Amino acid sequence: MDFVYEGLPTRVVFAKGARARAAAELERLGVQRALVLSTPPQEDQVRGFADEHLDGRVAGVFAGAAMHTPVEVTEEAMAVVKESGAEATVAFGGGSTIGLGKAIALRTGLPQLAIPTTFAGSEMTPILGQTEAGRKTTLRDPKVLPQAVIYDPDLVATLPAFIAGPSGMNAIAHAIEALYAENANPIISLMAQESIRALGTALPRMVEDAGDEAARGEALYGAWLAGLCLGSVGMAIHHKICHTLGGSFDLPHADVHCLMIPYSAAYNREAAADAMSRAATALQSDDAPRALFALLQKLGVKKSLAELGMAPADIDRAADIAVENPYYNPRPVTRDGVRDMLQAAYEGRPP
Ligand code: NAD
Repeated sequence: MDFVYEGLPTRVVFAKGARARAAAELERLGVQRALVLSTPPQEDQVRGFADEHLDGRVAGVFAGAAMHTPVEVTEEAMAVVKESGAEATVAFGGGSTIGLGKAIALRTGLPQLAIPTTFAGSEMTPILGQTEAGRKTTLRDPKVLPQAVIYDPDLVATLPAFIAGPSGMNAIAHAIEALYAENANPIISLMAQESIRALGTALPRMVEDAGDEAARGEALYGAWLAGLCLGSVGMAIHHKICHTLGGSFDLPHADVHCLMIPYSAAYNREAAADAMSRAATALQSDDAPRALFALLQKLGVKKSLAELGMAPADIDRAADIAVENPYYNPRPVTRDGVRDMLQAAYEGRPP
């Protein structure tokens, strides 16, 4: 064995109803007044939460968070931070809202309490992607890692199935790639395998029965572990290709991850045989890519890049972009290999 393991210092509170402990978490951080962040569709929910659970520690609400953390939005929010005298942010929402909290922390050092309402996992990572003039750049900085995270399974109850399924598969993708990461280590691999098991069993139950509380809790638990995997080890072909498809072709983030993960796993099937065997065990199958594909079929999500709106001519362009800058992957990344993978995903063929 030869590995390096570094623990991430985030405090995690996980319980049904844990949102009611938000004021106590701000107290622990020594914060009297926090700026509460959300996306526009979640503004009412967030204001209700702030009134009920923040015990007057509210410096204001900024409800302008948007996908991929546009710098213009961050600048608007920064003006509100200054005006309101906020001593921290409370990001209540999915990866978009949590991204805004991180962007503010990067610029101000303000502490963050994150309360995730999707399975994206950003709250557990020191990673921030930002967009400026249509270009997305990603950085890794301990400054952007939230100090405290509250996971409350009640909060994912309002996720419509068309967001919940892709969001959960986005989480599984973090865990799959953690198993064959260049800097994989035994602790993170244990978490990854457990994350895949929890999400693999919980997601179909959750999507089938929106009232299944146990499934919701287990899916959120799996997403927490997946976030830790993403924050702790490097990712490979799957995250790169999804970055290309999202960034250059404007395809929706979680849906692309959801659709591509069976194909990325298949790309690495032989080159990362041990990782694939662990993933297969977690999915109670003998072949991880096919088990991921079967899971996708159960979630009522888009099943091909064609259905997601990709133009056929973009397959070649995406393959070109994906091999522009070399990066680590268990199987060498070749243009032909990537093109074949994209063609299969375009058609929605079994991997
Ligand atoms: P999102 O935050 O954009 O949310 C998707 C939609 O769902 C939004 O309209 C939001 O208002 C709504 N929503 C969220 N929670 C809801 C709930 N419980 N009920 C009803 N509606 C709800 O999507 P996401 O997939 O969570 O995050 C995607 C973004 O996060 C991307 O920009 C991605 O790059 C980023 N991300 C970053 C990291 C990281 O480590 N930096 C990790 C994962 C994702």
